[in-house]
Amino acid sequence: MFAAAQKMAAYTKPDVAEAIQIRLAAVMAGGYPKQARCIPPKIRAAVIARDNGQCRACGGPGTEIDHINGSSEALENLQLLCDPCHNKKTMAGMVVVHPEDEKLQVKSLLFWARVEAEQPMRICDDEENWSGQWRRLMSEREDELARLVEDKIKNGRPMTKQEKRYWVRLF
Ligand SMILES: [Zn+2]
Repeated sequence: MFAAAQKMAAYTKPDVAEAIQIRLAAVMAGGYPKQARCIPPKIRAAVIARDNGQCRACGGPGTEIDHINGSSEALENLQLLCDPCHNKKTMAGMVVVHPEDEKLQVKSLLFWARVEAEQPMRICDDEENWSGQWRRLMSEREDELARLVEDKIKNGRPMTKQEKRYWVRLF
């Protein structure tokens, strides 16, 4: 309980709170956008050159390539921002939950229960053991598939396209 209280206290520090809000926004949106993380160096350089290395919002030194709208990597959809302006934009894009929306409230309670849980509530929440668990699940799945395919071959039944694909992946 003490650890949880400490964690909650940390959440109220402005910089930690902001980092958590940004992570929350990303998680709720289905994870950090892949494209944002791996803009090709050439495009990156072109954006920095065009914007003279300056944040387009405040004119300070720009550090982040931002997708203005959607995920297009067209130059006109990209802009250079500084860290604080980029964070501000990410947070502005967050959806506000209205207190009267019960469904969302329940969802949010469940979500926070997952975040706050002392024991991970889902396998994928288990930061420390996830890689091991994942490997175990994969190997179980592969064993299961191998059994299935073997059974099919023994009984002379043809494999479906999908099974063939799994079969190829197994070896
Ligand atoms: Zn800025």
